[in-house]
Amino acid sequence: MSYDDVEIEDMQWNEELRAYTYPCPCGDLFQITKEELKLGEEIARCPSCSLYITVIYNAEDFADNKSKNNLEPPKRQAIAVA
Ligand SMILES: [Zn+2]
Repeated sequence: MSYDDVEIEDMQWNEELRAYTYPCPCGDLFQITKEELKLGEEIARCPSCSLYITVIYNAEDFADNKSKNNLEPPKRQAIAVA
């Protein structure tokens, strides 16, 4: 069982660790890197104790989306108002 489920929005990007972090009750930080997220990893572990959390995120947000960036923006359909 994971200690908690945490949404990625509630985690903090830590520039030093190059990872998303979330406070662990032991005083350290749960950590998960972008690379792990990209691979579909959803477990952020604390390096100081055996606890871990399940990270809730949209994998597509972290997937290699170079091709996605080339996609045309969604076409807006003109809505004719009579
Ligand atoms: Zn801990």
